[in-house]
Amino acid sequence: MTSTLPNGLGNRQSVPAAAPLPVSLRIRERLEKAAVPFLANDNIAEHLLEGELDQLEIEVAGKVRDLLRSLVIDIENDHNTEETAERVARMYLHEVFKGRYHPQPKIASFPNVKQLDEIYTVGPITVRSACSHHLVPILGSCWIGIKPGERVIGLSKFSRVADWVFSRPHIQEEAVIILADEIERLCHPRGLAILVKAQHYCMKWRGVKEPQTSMVNSVVRGDFRHDPSLKSEFFELVKQQESLLIS
Ligand SMILES: [Zn+2]
Repeated sequence: MTSTLPNGLGNRQSVPAAAPLPVSLRIRERLEKAAVPFLANDNIAEHLLEGELDQLEIEVAGKVRDLLRSLVIDIENDHNTEETAERVARMYLHEVFKGRYHPQPKIASFPNVKQLDEIYTVGPITVRSACSHHLVPILGSCWIGIKPGERVIGLSKFSRVADWVFSRPHIQEEAVIILADEIERLCHPRGLAILVKAQHYCMKWRGVKEPQTSMVNSVVRGDFRHDPSLKSEFFELVKQQESLLIS
């Protein structure tokens, strides 16, 4: 059948539709509308729609490719950097910063039926993060002290939650507080103490280039805060564990 459409109308149909917003902007608009913070060490998993993480991976890879081009690296001809952009995008979204984009691993808690109230420590738990200022690694160890409350969680679960919290761009002081908040939410301990000792590659690899310096910080809550003897018992236990490691 011959078309009776006037020429003008036919042409108008071929005009491409306005390009959709990049997925990062769509997510950002959603977060702003809901007044949800999305700082470097916030988790935004529950605000991502199905399939958006895959789209984000494609968008981030494109930006990393642009970064490499801006660094005047010939990615078109250099076989070593040919797929670097895709690798970096995957690494950020699913590995080193997964604690921003992926939900917390499922952690079951159980009632403290035996009314355990002796303190115990777990550690060293390896923690891996990146500093928010330079996006280079922070690597260290974490010790957690618990005086049980109404609920308990399995020992390995502390590693899982620490890994999830630390796998974000951070400053160490905030990472420890966020980890403490998550553990309190999971098992409501009567006392909680966390100590982190870590090396910052922004000091080892660049900047002042101090290879041995590490940062130690801690947070104490509940009974560990109110009872000085409990607090020193925790630090003593950590010290013993550390010396066992060295010997
Ligand atoms: Zn740094």
